[in-house]
Amino acid sequence: LVDSEGGLRPTIFEEMTGLAQRFDAINLGQGFPDTDGPAELAELAATLISNDDAAARRNQYAPGSGILTLREAIARHQHRHYGLQLNPETEILVSTGATEALAASLMAFLSPGDEVVTFEPFYDSYAAVTALTNATLVPVPLTLSDAGARPDLERFAQAVTEKTRVILLNSPHNPCGVVFTQDELRVIADAAAAHDCIIISDEVYEHLTFGSPHIPIATLEGTFERTVTISSAGKAFSMTGWKVGWASGPAPLIAAVKSVKQFLSYSSGPAFQPAVAHGLDHGEEWFESLRTALREGRDILVNGLREAGLRVIEPEGTYFVIADVSSLGVRSAADLARLLPEHAGVAGIPVEVFAIPEHQSEFSSWIRFAFCKRPEVLHDAVARLKDGL
Ligand code: PMP
Ligand code: GLN
Repeated sequence: LVDSEGGLRPTIFEEMTGLAQRFDAINLGQGFPDTDGPAELAELAATLISNDDAAARRNQYAPGSGILTLREAIARHQHRHYGLQLNPETEILVSTGATEALAASLMAFLSPGDEVVTFEPFYDSYAAVTALTNATLVPVPLTLSDAGARPDLERFAQAVTEKTRVILLNSPHNPCGVVFTQDELRVIADAAAAHDCIIISDEVYEHLTFGSPHIPIATLEGTFERTVTISSAGKAFSMTGWKVGWASGPAPLIAAVKSVKQFLSYSSGPAFQPAVAHGLDHGEEWFESLRTALREGRDILVNGLREAGLRVIEPEGTYFVIADVSSLGVRSAADLARLLPEHAGVAGIPVEVFAIPEHQSEFSSWIRFAFCKRPEVLHDAVARLKDGL
């Protein structure tokens, strides 16, 4: 988090997007779609920003928990998809993206010295926010093999101890594309119960799966009461810049998250929140078309990377595929990622940045590419990689 001169390092996303812009490379680094989500949502938000009728405009603070219309739509969504019954008044909190919900949850539950167990590689904010709370991240590496990326549940069971306060789960998983199975989730939920831990479940890619169904861990018997579930309209509706996310769970946990959240952003997105509510209520066809488009993008990139000679783990969900560059005789995917924008015209993210320094060597030959791009862009990227690698 902090460099040798005491400064905060820019995130890898900023660094790689900067390189992509400098060399006019195709940016398969930072995960954002190159096609915006439903136009009707954008039109609704635009109307709420600049309606001629001042009473219909929404440019002033939203309520701290989020507008009730959105919280009600989230409750209906969780019920329709997962059978979860949530009270929109007390069990749902709207946040400034999933990032804020994650930060507020970790800050709410962690004290210095507590441990947070998570699977590795992990989304970069997990380590940063855990460090800000002076708690300790205990990462359990996923096992990467031709059969896919899977959690090592024995190592996981050993990692959860009386010091563990939070189990931080991410399924579908960024960057490995794993969708955790019911059996895997049961082991994780049982460990949480045995050691009385809180589960923070990052489900921002819940709708982006290509076969294996997404199962919220909160739906497992006996698990709701200890789980904060987090999601994001950025991913669900391909509007990553809107930064509308939410946390849901039992009232005492959500109250604790809110107590922190109110001093992070207080509130945000008054014109976006009603648009997201509309999307959640009318989004089923959109979700289906998004999945179809992403599956096509995944296949173009997976096949193209294989043709370029890389070993690839085929993702079951998310925007991302990870590829092993050791077959090219390259040892450091981080060095390669810093050269690719200039020399191949494509940007990717080295997977080791999603690991703690002591574990980086386990992931040093892996690079992540995003496939949430139009087919012609992905075909172009594949052609450039075949030429440039
Ligand atoms: N969690 C994961 C796993 C992510 O990949 C991301 C990045 N999009 C986030 C959280 C943050 O989501 P948001 O943009 O809604 O803050
Ligand atoms: N979640 C996106 C990714 O993993 C980007 C988020 C960010 O830019 N911080 O690429």
